[in-house]
Amino acid sequence: MQRSSFPEALADLKERGVRLTPQRQMILRYLKETHEHPTADEVYNRVCEEFSGISMATVYNTLHRLKELGVIHELKYGDGSSRYDGNDTEHAHLVCESCGEVRDVPSPAQELIVSPEVLATGYRLGSFRLEFYGVCPTCQTN
Ligand SMILES: [Zn+2]
Ligand SMILES: [Zn+2]
Repeated sequence: MQRSSFPEALADLKERGVRLTPQRQMILRYLKETHEHPTADEVYNRVCEEFSGISMATVYNTLHRLKELGVIHELKYGDGSSRYDGNDTEHAHLVCESCGEVRDVPSPAQELIVSPEVLATGYRLGSFRLEFYGVCPTCQTN
């Protein structure tokens, strides 16, 4: 499955009866067009370039709503920060522990990762999150 583009996501929401204000559309567009995984602060800074009056609360509300609607993902990290991901397909991440880059890579199918031990727990499985931590090529040369 290909990640949905901004026009596709917008059309999908429209079909479901969801109307987005221009500010909210811009947040969605930014997340759909970037391959980075920005924090809420970074989303705020980017949106401020076009809508200088926007509040941080609006940014948070929008991110929460878009996540609920399933068009973006939130990646929570233990330090309390979250990053937002416009890639709505199942995929894995490469995380550079030196510069913090988060990069998308195709994920192995769930059937290939789920071990007999996992199945033996009796859980009804939903989604999973796969991240590889290391040092990116750029940081390796620095
Ligand atoms: Zn790096
Ligand atoms: Zn991603």
